[in-house]
Amino acid sequence: MDVNIKFLGGARSVTGSKYLLDIGDFRLLVDCGLFQGLKELRRRNWQDIGVEVNTIDAVILTHAHIDHSGYLPRLCKQGYQNPVYCTESTAALLELLLPDAAQLQEEEARYAAKKGYSKHNPPLPLYTTEDAQAVFPLIQSQPFDEWISIHERVKIRYRYAGHILGAAMVEMLIQGDHQQKKLVFSGDLGRYHDPVMHPPVHIEHADVLLVESTYGNRQVEKEEVTERLAALVNRVVRREGVVLIPAFSVGRTQTLLFLLTRLMDEGKIPRLFIYVDSPMAISATYLYKKYQDYHKLKDEDLSDGHDVFNHPQIRYYRTQQASMSLNELRHPAIIISASGMCTGGRILHHLYHRLPRYEDMVLLVGYQAEGTRGRDLLEGKEMIKIFGEHVPVHAEVAMLAGLSAHADREELLQWLSGFKAVPKYTFIIHGETPAATAMKEQIENRFEWRHVFVPNFMESFRLFDGI
Ligand SMILES: [Zn+2]
Repeated sequence: MDVNIKFLGGARSVTGSKYLLDIGDFRLLVDCGLFQGLKELRRRNWQDIGVEVNTIDAVILTHAHIDHSGYLPRLCKQGYQNPVYCTESTAALLELLLPDAAQLQEEEARYAAKKGYSKHNPPLPLYTTEDAQAVFPLIQSQPFDEWISIHERVKIRYRYAGHILGAAMVEMLIQGDHQQKKLVFSGDLGRYHDPVMHPPVHIEHADVLLVESTYGNRQVEKEEVTERLAALVNRVVRREGVVLIPAFSVGRTQTLLFLLTRLMDEGKIPRLFIYVDSPMAISATYLYKKYQDYHKLKDEDLSDGHDVFNHPQIRYYRTQQASMSLNELRHPAIIISASGMCTGGRILHHLYHRLPRYEDMVLLVGYQAEGTRGRDLLEGKEMIKIFGEHVPVHAEVAMLAGLSAHADREELLQWLSGFKAVPKYTFIIHGETPAATAMKEQIENRFEWRHVFVPNFMESFRLFDGI
């Protein structure tokens, strides 16, 4: 039996993760992500996926982030009706994230219709809320750490990755005609000292390893994140400004709420209102509350006075009207809104109103992909285009890198050092080319592993021959 892999996304880019495996006549897709960021990447969402959809037998998801799950509704729209495997908390998050992604697609199509810039007439969404709903009956969720048979020759097991709620690495055992082989997909790896998530578990053996490399060329400063966060907030408070934080609804928002309320309770920053202006962030926070076994925000911590889920300084804003009322805010406060890379959602109207104000601050707390407004801000652009207008950037732009949900270079290497034997092949995925190639060099130099590859988009490899 032969085993082949084809990289349909998440290769030399951090979005669109899709890894196609042919295991004999069993065909499966690990992750089913949407391309985001640069227009040339986003265009791929509309193109042929690179395999006939009705030949795919199963999909496995590492976690719920849209760049790993957001193509599923499109896959279903093209006729996919087989199982989608993921962890239980990932399944719960998908019920929030996929309909939201569909709504964004629908909004974009409506906007394009109004502006007349789409080549479709009338402009079509990539998928609709109905397409997103069609995914849910296919989901088969399973706990961590248990082997699950998904085919007579293939078993998988989820391992704790510490990236966001539900995030897993996937171990895959393949029974060939003569030999058994093991594949390991790292998924997105979390950090070793995250305030909310536990560290990623170590895996000792893989014949073939696929490892992410988002921060493969970056060492996140060892600064004390909370100290710096306090200093930034205090600076803005002194000039009577507002701190605007674009954050992923899932993961970073909960970490921020935890850190900010603790700083207030310890008297290190003034008691300000924290406005969580995102219905999805509110629902995701509820899921963190529901699945307390998978993170550190447990009851013991809550009874300590840091009740992040029910803190008097937190204001949850669900309605559009409440959201708009924040535009009038002229005294110190913190606004957390999505999306995290400023590509859409309510953060846009906040940026539109806050960027021209010298006293305010945009605080970036996560990875900002190429082609996003977040990256433009990070790189110091003086004008940002929002709602078709050029908005001047007078507000201070700051980055708090230590809050990233991704392992940095040293942490990736720390995780890799858990392997007791050298994998036959290692593929560096989920990183822009400079990050992925830096990671390859590090692995070759430090561990002397050979056969380390940075695959290209749509490239195929034969993993095993006649096993
Ligand atoms: Zn992720």
